[in-house]
Amino acid sequence: MPKKIGLILWLLGAAVLISLLSYPIERHINSTDFLTLPLADRVIVLDPGHGGPDGGAVGADQTVEKDIALTVSQKLRDYLVQAGATVYLTREKDRDLANPDTRGIAQRKVEDIKNRVAFVEEKDPDIFLTIHLNALSSTQWRGAQTFYHPSRPDSKRLAEQIQTEIIASLGNTTRDALAINSVYVLKHANRPASLVEIGFLSNPDELTLLKSSDYQEQMAASIYLGVLSYFSEGDQ
Ligand SMILES: [Zn+2]
Repeated sequence: MPKKIGLILWLLGAAVLISLLSYPIERHINSTDFLTLPLADRVIVLDPGHGGPDGGAVGADQTVEKDIALTVSQKLRDYLVQAGATVYLTREKDRDLANPDTRGIAQRKVEDIKNRVAFVEEKDPDIFLTIHLNALSSTQWRGAQTFYHPSRPDSKRLAEQIQTEIIASLGNTTRDALAINSVYVLKHANRPASLVEIGFLSNPDELTLLKSSDYQEQMAASIYLGVLSYFSEGDQ
């Protein structure tokens, strides 16, 4: 084969190879898939309640609120991130947010709650969710319930959307989202915010459910669906 034809064939081959290589890359760049994720550009702060020396509510078998609140928050974070959101947790492990050298549980509690609000200020999220569990002396109460500060209609809508999805998916309650004045982080979050009480450790059947990974996953998925509804409705 003459050298010239060999060179032309080589160049043709190289051109085909380059176009083959670049085709999928261009397709990928032109794809709008990642732009259409439902929570793209959304920033969300999740606050697993309590932590460290503050265990929160306790079940009959010594199950503590702080552990389940963290696990469900992490599962919820996974759903939200897959939908494109940027998510920050106020804590990733078993600790409170007080300064390390502060002594006394009461003083630590004050600092902890103020630092959670400061965390929200710093991250400047679109929404803020604080995740807790309940326990009462009576064992009859069960089911999840969301709360909001009455000063913000958007917080009310957020709490209602989450409560609606929990009722639809889990069917574990008939209660409505409820306005509450006394929760410091809701009052001072300064953006759409909801407290999600995911269940009662004091109810024996619900305690078993709350400890199960499947139920924690379902709870996280229900809250996630509520967040999705909140944002999709807000966009209309
Ligand atoms: Zn709590």
